[in-house]
Amino acid sequence: MKFIDEYRDPEAVRRYADEIARITTRSWTIMEICGGQTHSIVKNGLDCMLPDKITLLHGPGCPVCVTSAAMIDKAIALASRDDVIFCSFGDMLRVPGSRRDLLSVKADGGDVRMVYSPIDAVHIAEKNLDRRVVFFAIGFETTAPANAAAVYYARQKGIDNFSMLVAQVLVPPAIEKILNAPDCRLQGFLAAGHVCTVMGYAEYEPIAEKYRIPIVVTGFEPLDILQGIHMTVWQLEQGRARVENQYSRAVKRAGNLPAQKLMADVFETVDREWRGIGLIPKSGLALRPAYRKFDSEAVFDIAAPDPEIVGECISGLILQGRQKPSDCPAFGKRCTPEHPLGATMVSSEGACAAYYAYRQKESPHIKPTSGKH
Ligand code: SF4
Repeated sequence: MKFIDEYRDPEAVRRYADEIARITTRSWTIMEICGGQTHSIVKNGLDCMLPDKITLLHGPGCPVCVTSAAMIDKAIALASRDDVIFCSFGDMLRVPGSRRDLLSVKADGGDVRMVYSPIDAVHIAEKNLDRRVVFFAIGFETTAPANAAAVYYARQKGIDNFSMLVAQVLVPPAIEKILNAPDCRLQGFLAAGHVCTVMGYAEYEPIAEKYRIPIVVTGFEPLDILQGIHMTVWQLEQGRARVENQYSRAVKRAGNLPAQKLMADVFETVDREWRGIGLIPKSGLALRPAYRKFDSEAVFDIAAPDPEIVGECISGLILQGRQKPSDCPAFGKRCTPEHPLGATMVSSEGACAAYYAYRQKESPHIKPTSGKH
């Protein structure tokens, strides 16, 4: 296929769903890792087209959703300083920290700017040499190369008023965290195609072997996802557990080697706190000592964050596939995109936002929305 609409062809989608039903003889529970996949599934009603025997659970692959409240509190502390221009992707601005969000800092006069790329923040630093510019570096392996490139560029150019607050996270340790839970009922994974475009998929092979679970690297269009589910179900029905690549038009087993080299030069692996999930060993990236002067946590004296307030938000359970958004008592009532209680209702990749946008008919108490968050 050459064109994107071919991956959305309703007839082809229906035929694939029928084929999945034909090969399914037992009950299977499968998790899609990525929030982009979750949105495609919910938006296109793909889960509703599958046989009742197949349950899809939504995973932790929404970077905004898993950034800890403590890290957002640090971002808020930095953004509140008079000498700082704080740059962030737009989704992060409305995610609550322990007590407030970045947008409220901006409303109070803080210089908080939305950028589309980390290099935009570096350019802001170049033009504002009397200010200190901080970029909030969040995301999975997908964003890490661009963030690494921005720091690398800043060092090459000697732009010393630029730094990063790094909250990067890694997918494979999160998969293992979910699989190690005593009540884990997952039997297959759809791995995130864009993450694997960077990292390849060799690092998933030991996981598939250790836990005897199929992992299929999958894209984001409706046909991609149904094909990924088909490949996963076929393995399960055959009693096989290996890594396969549905997204071969973008992903190679070794991934993008120059991007990996840049990441390895700039970042090192660290333990990382995930929002609602807790500490996951070796699941984060931080700047190496050679880049310490670009590390916001090293160059600023950031006040210790408030302890995380655990309210009624169950997004941590949703991100681990233990609950669905519609299981949350606050969903669509006390928690809406206009008044989010948790990150999964804010982010454009959050599962709660997807259910709110596309599942009104199943939850009649939910107000209609434009679907744009
Ligand atoms: S609906 Fe709101 S409160 Fe409930 S889990 Fe989702 S984000 Fe949290």
